[in-house]
Amino acid sequence: MTPRIDLHTHSTASDGTLTPAELVRAAADAGLDVVALTDHDTTAGWDAAARALPPGRTLIRGAELSCRWHGAEPAVPLHLLAYLFDPAEPELVAELARVRQARRERGERIVRLLQADGIEVSWPEILAGAAGGTVGRPHIAAALIRAGLVATTTEAFGPDWLGERYRLPKDDIDVFRAVALVRAAGGVPVFAHPRATRRGRIVPDELIAELAAAGLAGLEADHEDHSPAERAHVRGLAAELGLLVTGSSDFHGSHKTVRLGAHTTDQEAYERILAEASGVTPVIST
Ligand code: AMP
Ligand code: ZN
Ligand code: FE
Ligand code: FE
Repeated sequence: MTPRIDLHTHSTASDGTLTPAELVRAAADAGLDVVALTDHDTTAGWDAAARALPPGRTLIRGAELSCRWHGAEPAVPLHLLAYLFDPAEPELVAELARVRQARRERGERIVRLLQADGIEVSWPEILAGAAGGTVGRPHIAAALIRAGLVATTTEAFGPDWLGERYRLPKDDIDVFRAVALVRAAGGVPVFAHPRATRRGRIVPDELIAELAAAGLAGLEADHEDHSPAERAHVRGLAAELGLLVTGSSDFHGSHKTVRLGAHTTDQEAYERILAEASGVTPVIST
């Protein structure tokens, strides 16, 4: 039987709602043979996920790095998935710590903007809600829901709220530097949801070609935020540039409606990732 492989999920180590242990169990229950844990800007969930991995399953340790391309004005934010990199590589560790700190400062500034408009949300409560994990707008969205100001996370990401009016940029990693750091740490970098126009601005194909020349390994094509036309475009571009193609759920627990395994990666692309990786091994539970 062909294995079912989902290479993009989030736990409470960032803005998902299942703990890393719950996540790997839920992945097995969803019939996945391979799941990657890719929390935003952190490897903090890796060990708990590895310990809880049910028998016969494989965990790919990864992260989703907050990056930025400075070739447009204003610079465009983007996400880079990184698989099987050495979590102790000093420069990468320092960059991730810096980004997490910047996310906390940005979260607090967003809360102050809300408070200045008379919206009663509490930063200490939001920080407690993140429970030590990487802070993101979904944690602020949860506070807006608790306050009865919006009904859903989707509504909280609308233009009147965190999507525009109360959106502040993150201080993140230059994308070329991120690709180089991930490769230097023995990891495999894959551009997450590169054509997701519904999330905001996207980057031109020329940039993706430059990133491919700089060490990018692949593109995520099958993703909730890509239309069928966007998925086809990504596949075509990957074929042109010799990049591998992934599909994944980007599961966030109850912060999003997408289910584990909603999109999957084929075995050939998965094996290419394994072949290119030298930072850490997949965790295989016997
Ligand atoms: P941040 O990293 O703080 O900028 O927040 C972005 C995170 O919020 C991403 O990881 C998304 O998964 C999540 N997100 C973005 N847009 C939405 C949306 N419309 N509904 C729910 N979650 C979203
Ligand atoms: Zn997220
Ligand atoms: Fe993302
Ligand atoms: Fe994600």
